[in-house]
Amino acid sequence: MTGEVRTTCPYCGVGCGVLARVEGGRVHVRGDPDHPSNFGRLCSKGSALGETMALDGRVLHPEIKGQRATWDAALDLVAQRFSEAVAQHGPDSVGFYVSGQLLTEDYYVANKLLKGFVGTANIDTNSRLCMASSVAGHKRAFGEDIVPGTYEDLEAADLVVLVGSNLAWCHPVLHQRLLAARQQRGTRIVVIDPRRTATAEDADLHLAIRPGSDVLLFNGLLAHLAATGATDPDHIAAHTTGFDATLALAQADAPDRTRVARGCDIPPADLDRFYEWFARTPRTVTVYSQGVNQSAHGTDKVNAILNVHLATGRIGREGAGPFSVTGQPNAMGGREVGGLANQLAAHMGFTAPELDRVSRFWNAPHLARAPGLKAVDLFEAARTGSLKALWIMGTNPAVSMPDAGKVREALQKLPFVVVSDVTRTDTTRHAHVLLPAAAWGEKDGTVTNSERRISRSRAFLPVPGEARPDWQIVTDLARRMGFSAAFPYRTRAEIFREHAALTAFENTGDRLLDLGALADLPDDAYEALSPIQWPAKRGTEPGGRLLAIRFPTPDGRANLVPVRHEGPALPVSRDHPIALTTGRLRDQWHTMTRTGLAPRLSAHAPEPVLDLARREAQALNLHDNDLVQIESPLGLALAKLRVSDSLRPGEAFLPMHWSGLFAARASTGPLSNPATDALSGQPELKHVPVRVTKAPTR
Ligand code: SF4
Repeated sequence: MTGEVRTTCPYCGVGCGVLARVEGGRVHVRGDPDHPSNFGRLCSKGSALGETMALDGRVLHPEIKGQRATWDAALDLVAQRFSEAVAQHGPDSVGFYVSGQLLTEDYYVANKLLKGFVGTANIDTNSRLCMASSVAGHKRAFGEDIVPGTYEDLEAADLVVLVGSNLAWCHPVLHQRLLAARQQRGTRIVVIDPRRTATAEDADLHLAIRPGSDVLLFNGLLAHLAATGATDPDHIAAHTTGFDATLALAQADAPDRTRVARGCDIPPADLDRFYEWFARTPRTVTVYSQGVNQSAHGTDKVNAILNVHLATGRIGREGAGPFSVTGQPNAMGGREVGGLANQLAAHMGFTAPELDRVSRFWNAPHLARAPGLKAVDLFEAARTGSLKALWIMGTNPAVSMPDAGKVREALQKLPFVVVSDVTRTDTTRHAHVLLPAAAWGEKDGTVTNSERRISRSRAFLPVPGEARPDWQIVTDLARRMGFSAAFPYRTRAEIFREHAALTAFENTGDRLLDLGALADLPDDAYEALSPIQWPAKRGTEPGGRLLAIRFPTPDGRANLVPVRHEGPALPVSRDHPIALTTGRLRDQWHTMTRTGLAPRLSAHAPEPVLDLARREAQALNLHDNDLVQIESPLGLALAKLRVSDSLRPGEAFLPMHWSGLFAARASTGPLSNPATDALSGQPELKHVPVRVTKAPTR
C-alpha cells in the first residue's frame, strides 16, 4: 500500500473508494478494498482515471479578457464588479452557478458567501439538472431531503425495481453489487424504462412504458395494493397522513389494470406480474434516477413511488425502501450545505426560525430572506438583463443546460462573467475573468455519496501552474468584498468543522442531517477520516437506515401525496412526431472534458449516434450510418443514425455528451426541452419532440 493515497472517484454518486499512486510519472488507480461503497470494485470510468490526468486543455493561470493576469488583479476585479453590481442593482443582481463536482468545503463557502453575506440566494447548481425532483419529492413526503436506505438494502432485497435508472451504465458498481447479490439470493429485478437499456437486459421483467406514464403505473399499483389487502394499515395509521386522499386520486386516475396497461402501453400480463411481485414481496427496494427526475412532472413521479412504499411500510427497514441514486459525485454534499437556490444550509429552508438560526450561527444580519433563482431562471435573468454578474464554478452550462442556445445568448449579454474551472470549455469562452481551479487528485476535501456516506477526496498530485482549490478562491474573494471576519479559514478542515457544527446548531432532533459528532474533529482526524455515513450525532452510532418510524415533519408522520398522471410538457406533434430521450453512455462523463482524454473510454462510442426505432427508420427510409438531421422546436443537431430494436416505436435516443453535433441556428441551440417541474425547477431533459430527416448533402 506504500505510496498509495486513499481517495474517492470523481464521477458518479456511487462514491467508490480509490487507491491512487504516482509511479514513473503516471497515475495508477485501483479500487479501495476497504471502502464500504465498492469493496475494491471500479467500473470502466473509474479504472481509467489514471489515463485522464493529462494537462491538455488545462487552465493554468488567471486571465482577464483572455490575457494572462495575476491572481490579485483577477480577484480584485471580480470583487469590484460584484460589489458594484450589488451597490447599484441590489444583491439579487448577482449569482453563482456551481457544480456537483465541487467538494463539500467548496460548496459550503460559496453558499455562505452568497446567501449569508452578499444577501442573495441566487446560487444554484448543475445538480438541479439531475436530482432536484427527488429533493422536492423527499421534502414533500418526509419533511426533509432524506435517502432512507443504504446500498446494502439492494443486496438484502428480494425485489429491486429500477425506475428510469440505467444502473448498469450510470452507477455500474452498484449494479455489480446488485447482480452479485442476485446470484446469492435470487433477487428479482424489474426495470421500468421506455428503452431496453443494458440494465433492462439483466432484468427478470422489463416494462417499456410509454414515456411519462410513471405516475399512472404507480397510481395503479397503489390502487392494486389497496384492493388486494397488501397495504400496511398499522403503518399507515401510526406513521403517515394523506392515505385516503392519495388512494382516492390514484383510484380515479387508474381505475382498473386494463386502463393502466393501455395508458402505459405495456402488455397486461406484464403489468399483472409486476403488481403481483410488488404486492407479495416485503423486501422491495425501488431505485429511481434521472428518468424519473428529469421531467416537468418529476416531483409527482417521485411521490408516486414514495406513496407505495409508505402505504406498505416498506421504508427504513433492511432490504426495503425507496432509493434515489444521484448522478454526480457530490450532488448529496451540495444538498447538505444548501447549494440549491431554494435551500438555506444544513437542510434548512427559509422559514423564520431557520433564517434566525442560520443568521445567528453565521453572524450574518444580511442573510438572504427568500429562495433565489433556480438554474433555468438564473440564466433567463441573465438573458433578459436583471442579472449583472455571474460566477460559474466547475461546470459547462453553455452545453449542458436545456435550450443551451439561450444560455449562450445569456452569457454573451451578461455584463460580467467569471468562470473558475479546470479545463477550457464552451463556457470558459464567455469569461471576462477566467480562474484556474485545482482538479481531482490535486485538491482535498469531502464528498457525500447516494447513501449519505461522507468520504475524503485527497490530493496526490502537485497543483499545476497557478491553479487553486475552489474554497481558497471563494474565501479570497469574500475577504476582498469586506467579509474577512466570516471567512477566516486557513484549511479545509476548519470549513468542514463549521459545516458540521451548523448541522447540529440548535438542532433539537427535528432534522436528521446532523454531523455534530464531527464538529470538533481535530485536523489529524479530518485528514485520516474513514468513510462515515450520516446522521453522525454526538453520542450516537453514525449512519444506518432512516425513517422506519418517525419522520422529520411537525407531527412526525410522513405525507402520502395525491398525484395525477400528466403527459410530457411538450408532447409529440405532427411536425415533431418522434419522442427523443437523452442519457449517458457507459464510458463517458458529462461533456467528456475528462473521460474524452482516455482512448479506451472513447473506443466504446467514438462518435455521437442517434438511435432511432426501427419502425420510424423504415418509414423514413433511413439506414445505419446515414447522417441525419434532428430538429426539435428549439434546435437542430446532426448525428449518424443507428436503427434500433431497443426503443419503442416512435422513439429515439441521443447521448448527452457531445456538443459538436449541434448545427448553428439563429437564437436556438441544442435540442433539449426547457420545460421545468413547477416544484423542483428540474428541466424535462428526457422528452423532446423531434423530427428526423436525412441530412442534406453539400
Ligand atoms: Fe466511479 Fe461511479 Fe464507476 Fe464507482 S461506479 S468507479 S464512483 S464512476
